[in-house]
Order: sequence, then structure tokens, then C-alpha cells
Amino acid sequence: MSVLSAHDVVIIGGGACGCTIAYLLAKQGVSVALVDKGEIGREASWASAGMVGPCACQDRDPWFLAATRLSWRMYHELNDELFDVTQRRIGLGGEGELVYVDGEDDLADLDKKVRVQRDAGLEVIVMDGDEAREREPALPDRAIKAACNPAGRFLDARAYTAIIGAAANQLGAVVYEGKPVTGLVRGRDRVMGVRIGTDELHAQTVINSSGAWAGGIDPALTHPVEPMHGQIMSVQGPPCGLRHNVSQATRWGYCTPRADGRVVVGATHELWGFVKRITPAGVEYIGEVARRVLPCLANQTIIDIWSGLRPQTPDALPTVGPDPRAGDGYLWAAGHASSGMTQMPATAAVLCDLVTHQTPRIDISQLAIERYLNNEPVHEHQVFHRFVQI
Ligand SMILES: Cc1cc2nc3c(=O)[nH]c(=O)nc-3n(C[C@H](O)[C@H](O)[C@H](O)COP(=O)(O)OP(=O)(O)OC[C@H]3O[C@@H](n4cnc5c(N)ncnc54)[C@H](O)[C@@H]3O)c2cc1C
Repeated sequence: MSVLSAHDVVIIGGGACGCTIAYLLAKQGVSVALVDKGEIGREASWASAGMVGPCACQDRDPWFLAATRLSWRMYHELNDELFDVTQRRIGLGGEGELVYVDGEDDLADLDKKVRVQRDAGLEVIVMDGDEAREREPALPDRAIKAACNPAGRFLDARAYTAIIGAAANQLGAVVYEGKPVTGLVRGRDRVMGVRIGTDELHAQTVINSSGAWAGGIDPALTHPVEPMHGQIMSVQGPPCGLRHNVSQATRWGYCTPRADGRVVVGATHELWGFVKRITPAGVEYIGEVARRVLPCLANQTIIDIWSGLRPQTPDALPTVGPDPRAGDGYLWAAGHASSGMTQMPATAAVLCDLVTHQTPRIDISQLAIERYLNNEPVHEHQVFHRFVQI
């Protein structure tokens, strides 16, 4: 055994979560090591559609509303800040999130969605079909009513993760790639570091942000997170361009623009283990989403198809904070499911608060690992459909 190095904090997993935590901690002068089994930012955060913005979700609030609001503010700050550090852009843009209906039967569902957002204090603009097409010319003629949250945004999640990881590194975070963490170094009543094969990295605090793999790092620290596979594609944008993240109030799927003019169309939801693959059924599904949500995309060129593994949890909320089974020196930051990008800077900010012994700026009692301990096993397959939005 050899000790590679010792740090204040070792972060397991260099996705958007781990990289953002590393950056915020490094900015505060905390000594950080960020360890990934592969390349930084090549898993869920690489596959993400990148839709972000303040959003209320009755089943997941108050955390979700507070986290998405704070993240929205932080993304706008990070947009400039990361450019100053790296001279690269995270692709933040968009004029809102637009949800439409094309039949009288769906009007009540749209009204309910509007009510939930407005009750939470979020701005929503309601429009008839013509007004909606004026705002978003790519919408189909059959759209009869729409609601727009003007704060909805998109970003290039691949670029974001790579850039904030590089910025963390520039500020002093040590990055280990191609180093799978194989276990924790445990003291009598605390965690003291991580094992990477026969090597060890020692730290005051270990943060587990290993996404869909988070439940497998230590056999004693189980977590009911599982890989929810998603197939997703990008197509050439319509001639009129696309300004909003667009979806239908009562149907699955979305279309979201990229700064370079492409449109990202997603996504499937498959629970088949740690396997990433593109299937005929998946291609058919996202093809149907494109044709239905924005028919003007039906004959646009497909540019790329890819997939990734969302860290799905039974309640679609992340687990953030300590674990009584680990003792001191261990924090969870995993399980952001299908809307991790929209909560990510807020999660990272809260982790920084915990590491630096501050009161978390958002209440995290909802996210405690205790919600899964001493309970009957949760039947994830039955409940996840209630929560998956993206
Ligand atoms: C198709 C798709 C579309 C999505 N669209 C959106 C969207 O529009 N908006 C939104 O908010 N969210 C979206 N999401 C969800 C979002 O992308 C995820 O919630 C988020 O990226 C999770 O980030 P993470 O850092 O926790 O996980 P990941 O990005 O998966 O990172 C985990 C990291 O841990 C590493 N790791 C795992 N095991 C080990 C180990 N033993 N040792 C070291 N490292 C390890 C992995 O290599 C990986 O780099 C989407 C996801 C998918 C798949």
C-alpha cells in the first residue's frame, strides 16, 4: 500500500457534481483531490440535455424549488466567472421553457402546471397559440395554448463539466483520471480516505459524488441509486431557429436548443443496468418526440445520437450530507436523477457549507440518507414515473 497524497477533501466522481464541488472548494483555498474512474465528465453529465432553470415540483419541494432557483443565479455568475478563468463558454442561453397543448382535453393539465409554478412565486406567461408562435416560430400550427417560464435556460453540460473541472484544476484541485475508487479507508469511527487498488488517498472528508455508481463504493454504505439509461440525439435546427426549451404538457419528451444552432431531442428511460447502447426502439422513440413536439424537425439531419446513465433514486431527489453508518469524514452528494444539472451548483454550494462547517444555505433535511435506512425496500420501478420529468 502507498499513500499517494493527503488532502482536506477527496471527491469521488468527476461529473458535473464532483467538478462543481471541487471548483467551489478550491476557490475557498480548500485542498481538494478529484478522482474519476475514467475521464472527467464522460458519464451522465456528458449525456445531459442541459435544461436548467427555476422550477417548482410539489413532490420534491421545498429543496427542488430552492435549489433550482439558487442554481439559476449561480449559472449566470459562473458563465462569466468560468470564462475569465478558462476563456471557454458553457453555452448558457435560451429565452425560456415553453410548454404547449394541442387539444382541449389537455388544457386542464396545462392550467395545473401553471398554478403550481405561480403558487411557488415563479413567473409564467400564458399565451394562446398565435401568441405562442410569435414567441417561438418553430411551434406547430396545432398548438392552441402555451405557458412560458421565461427563466428557463439551456447549457452545454459537456462543456460545463469539462470547463469547471479544468477551472478547479487551475485553482489547485488535483485531478486523478482513470483511477477507480475501490473502497474507503475506514478508521475506528470515521472515514479517512479512499482506496484506489493498492494505493490510498487520505482526507479529512470524502465526498461521494459518483452518480449512478454511488451505491457501490463501499458495501456498508448502500444507497438505492440505479442507472436510468437515456438515449438522446441532436439534429440540425429549423430554419427559423429555436429559442426555448419546448415540450408538451401531457406527453413525454422535449426539444432544447444549443448555442451552435443544433436542437437536442430526448430522451428514453430504460432500467437495464450499467449498459449504454443505442437501440432501434430508442431511435424510434426520440424520432417520434422530434416529429410530435416540433414537426418542423421531422426531416432535419440527425447530427449525433448518444446515451448516458442518470443516477436515479426512488424519490428523484439527491442524497446530500453525512451518513451515520460512516461516522465522521464522509458526505453524500449523489442521486440527482433526471434533473441534476438544474440543481447542481446549489448542491455543490451546500456541500461547501458542510465541509467548511457552515449552516447549509438551503435546508437539506429532505435529502438525508436516513430516509432510506431502516425502511421497507422501496419499489423504485413503481414510483419513478411520478417524478421523471426530463
Ligand atoms: C439523456 C439525459 C438527459 C438529461 N437531461 C437533463 C436536463 O436536461 N437537465 C438536467 O437538469 N439534468 C439532466 N440529466 C440528468 C443530469 O445529467 C444528471 O443528473 C447529472 O449529470 C448527474 O451528475 P453527477 O455528477 O452526479 O453524475 P455523473 O455525471 O454520472 O458523474 C459521476 C462520475 O463518477 C465517476 N465514478 C463512478 N464510479 C467511480 C469510482 N468507483 N471511482 C471514481 N469515479 C467514479 C464516473 O466516471 C462519473 O464521471 C440528463 C441525463 C441524461 C442521461
